[in-house]
Amino acid sequence: SNDNAPEKKRQRVTTKGSDVPPPIVSFNDLQERFNLPKRLLSNLSSNNYVNPTGIQAHAVPILLEGRDLAAISPTGTGKTLSYLLPVMSSLGVPMSNSKHDGSDGVRAVILAPTRELAHQIHNECLKLAEGRKWRIVLFSKATAATLAVKSVRDKIDIIISTPLRLVASLQDGKLVLNNVRHLVLDEADRLLDSEFISQTEEVIAACTHPELQKCVFSATLPAGAEKIAMSLLMDPIRVVVGLKDT
Ligand code: ADP
Ligand code: MG
Repeated sequence: SNDNAPEKKRQRVTTKGSDVPPPIVSFNDLQERFNLPKRLLSNLSSNNYVNPTGIQAHAVPILLEGRDLAAISPTGTGKTLSYLLPVMSSLGVPMSNSKHDGSDGVRAVILAPTRELAHQIHNECLKLAEGRKWRIVLFSKATAATLAVKSVRDKIDIIISTPLRLVASLQDGKLVLNNVRHLVLDEADRLLDSEFISQTEEVIAACTHPELQKCVFSATLPAGAEKIAMSLLMDPIRVVVGLKDT
């Protein structure tokens, strides 16, 4: 058994938005519906991810259809995998494996309010990345310094960072986010709160690609943060998971 398995409380899921795709029942559904890379699927089972949680069942198909999403689901319900799985599926081939010169630059950015959370997300990401040469960067002062070399900078697939770190590299011109296709705000209640909002907005503004997909994940989204979230997202779907008492 998996000590980390999310609590098996019954979950009530409500969705709001236009053309909401149906949830998946099992991870295997993703292969038929979205042609999920086999390696991702096998990495799920080898890490004991057998059945999707409520938020995963709903959020993964929404994101794989390219929609913007606001997802609210309690702590411990598996929000991390809910966005990592579709992001890594959509990115397809890791940049370092592709034939072209890799001048496309960073394609996914995951923002988290603390260094510790960024670290946890990075670990989850590495589990899914097993067997493929993804360049996944947990952003720090040290990795920021390596960006001076263009060939290093251009081979990054995914950046996981706090807003402060990323903004520093944007401001010194070493980092360009104009080819980012996926932007995730994890623990969005904090990222959209007064402490981080201006930095978060600066990162969003730097992601200028017209096909940018944005999503926010949080355990709670107070009215103020929700209003900001909804203004950032385009035709979003909103998913709320509540735990039922049994
Ligand atoms: P949240 O961000 O909602 O607080 P996490 O993404 O941190 O939750 O996941 C909580 C724990 O549940 C982690 O240890 C993770 O590995 C585990 N987990 C996530 N999804 C599944 C799943 N489908 N099956 C089993 N364990 C899972
Ligand atoms: Mg989390």
